[in-house]
Amino acid sequence: MRLPPQRRQLKPKPFLMLCGLPSKIPRTMTKNISPQTYRLRGILKMEKRIMIKTNQNNLIPGTKRRLFVDMDGTLCQWKDCEKYEDLYEPGFFSSMLPNTALVDAIKIIFLQNEIVIYILSAALADSDCAVKEKNMWLDLHLPEVDHDHRIFVSTDIKKYAAVPGGIRPTDILLDDYSKNLHEWSEKAVAVKFLNGVNGTNGTWERCGGFVVHGNKAADKIAQEVTNICVLHNNE
Ligand SMILES: [Mg+2]
Repeated sequence: MRLPPQRRQLKPKPFLMLCGLPSKIPRTMTKNISPQTYRLRGILKMEKRIMIKTNQNNLIPGTKRRLFVDMDGTLCQWKDCEKYEDLYEPGFFSSMLPNTALVDAIKIIFLQNEIVIYILSAALADSDCAVKEKNMWLDLHLPEVDHDHRIFVSTDIKKYAAVPGGIRPTDILLDDYSKNLHEWSEKAVAVKFLNGVNGTNGTWERCGGFVVHGNKAADKIAQEVTNICVLHNNE
């Protein structure tokens, strides 16, 4: 019996091979190539762009990218407390002021309906008020994100461990705290929110991490966050 020929999955050739060049260019060539320097650099840049484009297909079919947004120091303005016990005082979380530009930017992204937005906030597990007040704050300032998309995680648990269904490489965390960002970046994409108080050492930026400045207009922040969500390179 003759079996039907198996359909071979055709792999797209890397851009450099299509140009008649080896698929990988030795590092030394990219440093001191004499006649072709500019041409090769252009090709390398173009191939990088193509790789970024192809990465957009890394999503699980039928799913959207997910953006996880922190609250304290990110959606909410940074609030100093004199002593640790202040965190347990009724009204501490509900009275936090919003970072208006970012809150509005999240509303813009929500309306675009291309990215699923979650709140991912650490909350004191032994506090009677924390989760209740954080929900009150969201009901007031960001009711677009419903209760099903609000995740409150105990402070001793890593944020990525609380993601529903497990973290995906395309998941994005927007957070002001470098520890969370470093942990998240081992699994997915992390973006530091600069709130005017943090980021003074610049360690995250020196590592090449994504940053978003909170002093920009809402539409600019929305655009920057969306660009990172859509164009980031997982490699
Ligand atoms: Mg925070």
